[in-house]
Amino acid sequence: MDKFKLEFDNSFIMVYIGKNLIGKDWVTNPDRKLKKFSPVDGKLIAEFPAATISDVDAAIEIAEESFEKWWRIGSVERSKILYRAKELIEKNRAELENLLMMENGKIKPQAVEEVDGVLDQIQYYAEFARKINGDVVEGTEFYRKIFQYKVPYGIVVAITPWNFPAGMVARKLAPALLTGNVVILKPSTDTPMTAEWIVRKFVEAGIPPGVLQFITGKGSEIGDYIVSHRKVSLVTMTGSTSTGQRIREKTSSNMAKLILELGGKAPFIVWKDADLMNAAKALIWAKFWNAGQSCIAAERLFVHEDVYDKFMNIFVNMTKKLRIGSPESADVGPLINQQALETTEKFVSIAKEDGFKIITGGKKPDLKGDLQNGYFYEPTILEGNKDSSPIFQEEIFGPVIAARKVSQLEETIRLANDSKYGLASYLFTKNPEVIFQSADQIMFGELYINMPGPEASQGYHTGFRLTGQAGEGSKYGIEEYVKLKNIYVDYSGKELKIPSMNL
Ligand code: NAD
Repeated sequence: MDKFKLEFDNSFIMVYIGKNLIGKDWVTNPDRKLKKFSPVDGKLIAEFPAATISDVDAAIEIAEESFEKWWRIGSVERSKILYRAKELIEKNRAELENLLMMENGKIKPQAVEEVDGVLDQIQYYAEFARKINGDVVEGTEFYRKIFQYKVPYGIVVAITPWNFPAGMVARKLAPALLTGNVVILKPSTDTPMTAEWIVRKFVEAGIPPGVLQFITGKGSEIGDYIVSHRKVSLVTMTGSTSTGQRIREKTSSNMAKLILELGGKAPFIVWKDADLMNAAKALIWAKFWNAGQSCIAAERLFVHEDVYDKFMNIFVNMTKKLRIGSPESADVGPLINQQALETTEKFVSIAKEDGFKIITGGKKPDLKGDLQNGYFYEPTILEGNKDSSPIFQEEIFGPVIAARKVSQLEETIRLANDSKYGLASYLFTKNPEVIFQSADQIMFGELYINMPGPEASQGYHTGFRLTGQAGEGSKYGIEEYVKLKNIYVDYSGKELKIPSMNL
């Protein structure tokens, strides 16, 4: 990326050769390469290293050597480097936006929004430099005290998904580094370039060698090894529930602390007194943002029977107006890869077998030129009421939603909670009883009432059930990266008496 200027253009043919950062060296491995294809037109855009076990070993050894020094420079000095990284990203933000469009297929306004989010998160975490406080607790006697220090874990492995390839990287690097941990980042093989670009900016900002390292490779080849390495103390991973479960199994050997941000299946409830226009706008966002590839995407639509026809009419008409195509000009971009496209198609075909009716969409769009080879799928609305169907139970992760009529609040809350996932949920109503009963009973980490998402840096992003454990954002999110260490002191100067041992 430092060799040429990245510009987004559908005829872009240059192939970027990605590198890994081990210690202070940016390295390639000509014998072990992975390929990255554009989601927009299917063309090869990058090759990058498939790291080996010995690369992981080298990175861990260097991380271990770098930890003590990084911890000791103090959080204020560390925050200065974060602020500098933020400045550098901001100054060069057009490059990052272009990368997001090129590598992820993100539409332009959403690429801009993601970069805003990256800057906001780095700023938010950097501001914690003076706010990480331990405690002093009274001991069992007056001259005894317990000092509770907040200390970094040590070596943190950060594993990120492809759907917010810049945002997820920032949300892990900033709190982990601010609190004095050293980090080895492994991004998704679908978005190595964005992650490399951000790491380069942190390095340029002055992160010392070895404090932040970067390796690319398949989870299936290096994933198990790195997360279970005996020197790794914390694994922060955002991705699918199945990968999270595997990481949990593999870390039983090193007992690494886990921050697991996994899948979602958000219910979206439109109650009979809702502002239907606002609800429809929020749903367009909640469903088709990032082409439906979001952990907080609305995936199940529950509409009160009194307003069902009226609401669906507004929602379907808005959906039909969405423009699909090039990230430069469209409202909905492509899915990330061929496999994601096939999975989406399969969900729709199973739903049809389960008796669901397609109201709009349900196929690949008819696009012109190179876009024909991209992984696009039409924004799709289905309706039906088989609650056990995969369309209502499994994470689709595409621009597809199934709708169902509801009538009683108790039944609606039961349906909303009927999911193995528990991340985001949405409710549109003006009725305070419905609001507060839902707030009590909808068992999801986030409930958005009369508004769209996404989560804010100062909110705690977390989920119930198979959405994972721990969370990110807010003071609670930063506390995930520090451990409490207890120092007991007796400063009385008196002779010790230990009655239970007759001493
Ligand atoms: P994924 O599980 O396929 O991959 C996530 C990361 O895990 C990648 O970097 C991958 O290489 C790595 N990985 C795979 N196998 C591994 C192993 N055995 N050991 C270690 N690492 C391994 O997920 P994805 O397709 O990249 O992302 C989409 C998923 O992420 C969706 O389920 C989505 O809901 C979830 N997600 C959750 C949140 C959240 O905040 N809860 C946010 C964004 C995405």
